[in-house]
Amino acid sequence: MKSVFSFRMTAILVLVLIFSACSNDHKKQGTLFQTSTINALLQGDYDGTMTFGQLKKHGNFGLGTVNTLNGEMVGLDGKFYQVRTDGKAYLISDTMKTPFAEVTFFKPDTTVSLDDSIGSFEQLQSYLDKLLPTPNIFYAFRITGRFDDIETRSVPQQHKPYPPLTDVVKNQATFEFHNVEGTMVGFRCPDFVKGINVPGYHVHFITSDRKAGGHMLACKFHKANIEIEYLTRFKMDLPRTASFYNLDLNQEKAKDLEKVEKK
Ligand SMILES: [Zn+2]
Repeated sequence: MKSVFSFRMTAILVLVLIFSACSNDHKKQGTLFQTSTINALLQGDYDGTMTFGQLKKHGNFGLGTVNTLNGEMVGLDGKFYQVRTDGKAYLISDTMKTPFAEVTFFKPDTTVSLDDSIGSFEQLQSYLDKLLPTPNIFYAFRITGRFDDIETRSVPQQHKPYPPLTDVVKNQATFEFHNVEGTMVGFRCPDFVKGINVPGYHVHFITSDRKAGGHMLACKFHKANIEIEYLTRFKMDLPRTASFYNLDLNQEKAKDLEKVEKK
């Protein structure tokens, strides 16, 4: 009798240990959450489907846009901002909606103190690439500092029938910042997300007073604190809307993406 009891106790103990090991492992793995897909946004699916209140359940850090493509979105420290075409950042309420956003609960795995001259956005990307162990997983970046030059853009609110994003960016507003303190909020996605998210780097910027920012087009700086989180889980929420159901999401959009993301 005694041996059966102790066998049971041991079996339960082993199961508890396995379970807690699994859940700890789960906690350590960062998750990238996104709503809708980049190709849906490229094709003009700008009606917001998820509220920021819902989005906040999936992360406190991220980027994207807001309902009707009314500006660039930056999420930092649990607060979400909308940078409109006047260049100003406005606090987003929980009831506002987003048609495309990506977020994570930011917990850096590594921190690097950069003391080197970064002459361009391209140079920043190759600098970051050297810090990463593989191009095959997702990463979130928080780069904080005083930057010599930053150029950002924002996109104007759209009205139906919505034009594709390649047409909208022809009317984008651009902003220049010099000797500005702020934070870059960015992600790097692997090439295999083509059509779903932006392969490579996608960075938004917000000033330290949280009053301005946008989608980053160019940068130049020589000192910054770089924090990187490895994201090895990916979760996606697709809109249950007629407009999303009727899109042709099999089209090759790499060239369009290049036009809307870069300078
Ligand atoms: Zn952007």
